[in-house]
Amino acid sequence: MSVEAEAAAVGRTAGHARTQEVVWHHRHLLDVDVVTWPEIELIMRTTDEMKGVLARPIRKVPALNGRRVTTLFYEASTRTRVSFETAARNLSADVVSVSTATSSVTKGESLVDTIRTLEALGAEILVMRHSVSGAPHLAAEIFGGHVLNGGDGWHAHPTQALLDLYTMRQHLPDGDLRGRKVAIVGDILHSRVARSNIWSLTAAGADLWLCGPATLLRGMDRWATAWDGGAIPGHGRFHVTSDVDAAVRDADVVMALRIQRERMQGGLLPSLREYAARFGLNAERVSLAKPEAIVMHPGPMNEGVEIAPDVAISGRAVITEQVANGVAVRMALLYLLAGAHEAAVGHEAAR
Ligand code: ASP
Repeated sequence: MSVEAEAAAVGRTAGHARTQEVVWHHRHLLDVDVVTWPEIELIMRTTDEMKGVLARPIRKVPALNGRRVTTLFYEASTRTRVSFETAARNLSADVVSVSTATSSVTKGESLVDTIRTLEALGAEILVMRHSVSGAPHLAAEIFGGHVLNGGDGWHAHPTQALLDLYTMRQHLPDGDLRGRKVAIVGDILHSRVARSNIWSLTAAGADLWLCGPATLLRGMDRWATAWDGGAIPGHGRFHVTSDVDAAVRDADVVMALRIQRERMQGGLLPSLREYAARFGLNAERVSLAKPEAIVMHPGPMNEGVEIAPDVAISGRAVITEQVANGVAVRMALLYLLAGAHEAAVGHEAAR
């Protein structure tokens, strides 16, 4: 099949899903809290199509030919940035990568000026990571194109949550998370991955357990119990505990999160060694989960702290699958956002 025919096939299938089920109208993707369950399913189906592209000898389609994707990362990243850039290139977009360490940001240029400059230089889709929660929301206010949040502060990491969901669905019978126990163990307090996963996993109907030392769960109890699901049907409650055995016991999915030392003020943990002893995912703890349970980690891993090295490479670990699925999920999102332009004009409210 020619590259053009392949692109048309991808477009046809995704377009088919749109007309049959749901129309993607979001101009930006800043978090998963504004995305409905049918829209998440559209993302999952479009990701299936992109996995099909990635399975071919030539992993490239011209779906975004001539579209300009710019990555602007104010914080360190390996997998998210490379994954977005690979995804954009696989769709034949022109990719510009701005590293703030070598840009005019070091000369004091503001975020707003930087974004206006990138737009003047032709950026149409801006993938952004920032250490300040809400920075991509500010970018979305002023940028004329589409903003994709690649992680902001403690707040949100929507593409990580979506690739986590996709990976879990691949491993669960019928891809159904309803009633499945998912335990997320680690530094919940500082984790944008945990926050975005709360939205998507409760929307999927999972029995979600968040676990860590009490100091790293602050505020989660109130969210877990006082919350009525908000405006989005299907989003629900979750459990919060410092009892790691209770969290992991009979789980279908166990996810470890990194201790985010760069975000941590003193006094929250006695020591990493004590954390590893009390909360680290070691083989003994993981054996409490279901025999077919999978082990996940968004990376980067601190082996020997939140996850034991033998667990990270065990047959249950799907950590490299998460990374590979990240490319397909990001291809799907770039594709959907780029196609949302027309609809977005009439749906300014639906950001
Ligand atoms: N890579 C993820 C993030 O950017 C998780 C982490 O850094 O620990 O939030």
